[in-house]
Amino acid sequence: MAAKSLTVVVSQSPSKNPAKRHLEEELVAALMLDETVDVAVVPHLYNLDAAHSGTMFLQSMRGHLVVLSWMYPRAAHWLLDRAGIKGHQGETLLEDPDEDEDIEIPEPQGIGGVELPDRNVYCLDLGVDSDPQVFLEEISRIVGELSVETVELMDWISGSPEQEQLERYLDPLSVLTGESGVEPVKRRWYPVIDYERCTNCMECIDFCLFGVYGVDNFERILVEQQDNCKKGCPACSRVCPENAIVFPQHKEPAVAGALGDVGALKIDLSRLFGSTSGIDTAVAERDVELMRDGREAVGASVGMPKRQADRDSTKRDDLDDLFDGLDAMNL
Ligand code: SF4
Ligand code: SF4
Repeated sequence: MAAKSLTVVVSQSPSKNPAKRHLEEELVAALMLDETVDVAVVPHLYNLDAAHSGTMFLQSMRGHLVVLSWMYPRAAHWLLDRAGIKGHQGETLLEDPDEDEDIEIPEPQGIGGVELPDRNVYCLDLGVDSDPQVFLEEISRIVGELSVETVELMDWISGSPEQEQLERYLDPLSVLTGESGVEPVKRRWYPVIDYERCTNCMECIDFCLFGVYGVDNFERILVEQQDNCKKGCPACSRVCPENAIVFPQHKEPAVAGALGDVGALKIDLSRLFGSTSGIDTAVAERDVELMRDGREAVGASVGMPKRQADRDSTKRDDLDDLFDGLDAMNL
């Protein structure tokens, strides 16, 4: 079996929305007829944990990848990177029709990825169009851009004890129909760090009181205990000064990884709750989670060393309003 120049991975929607399923099926059917690409289907990337065979399958792929998922590209890219599916960010020409073209995106100043293999990973957001042709044309363009020779089958296939288990992902129709025996996934909720933006300032590790963050061997911030994160809580994304923390399933595009600034959201929520800043919102969200765990609320007195210096942590009036607002919205 020879590997083709490019593997296209379709990551399924976490919902059973028929329109989304239909788009996935149409894409897979067309890509299976395309002699220039291999195609695989995996469950929703965000819900795959490290032990899932879908994660191991993706880690085993050595060549260039196109990953089609129901997430903003930077969310998908850094989610994959965290799972050890690394590569240089391939540039896509697909445009999000909801994106405000007037927004100025500052040049990223972050610490970037490490140990990147010599390949590209192109992440395409399936949410930008319902027409499969749009994605197929972009994949053709990428194939032309790469112009890679057909290579011999990647090392992982031969002799691997998990060969059969992993190969089933290259039988996409069986995954789509649920006949492949792929183990089910549960919904998860955790932050994803965009290292193109992250400056390693450590504000998030100080702020989160639930043990989610840690540091890696290079002393870089890391989402270490993903499943300690509190479902639905996006608090640390409001605290990060670089807008580097993404929650791919959050309903607000800026938090979910759209290219705009989370600052816009911070201002909107602040107005809604009658508070003075997005930091207050984050503090209130964190206190709600602490109290749900049976712990004491700490307000702004803990975990914001750089910000605590210039704020009065005893000022609680605005926060009382925030609690009322959060409870009412069930955030
Ligand atoms: S707060 Fe943001 S920029 Fe600072 S270390 Fe955390 S993710 Fe990186
Ligand atoms: S959202 Fe809340 S619980 Fe999750 S990592 Fe951020 S601060 Fe911690």
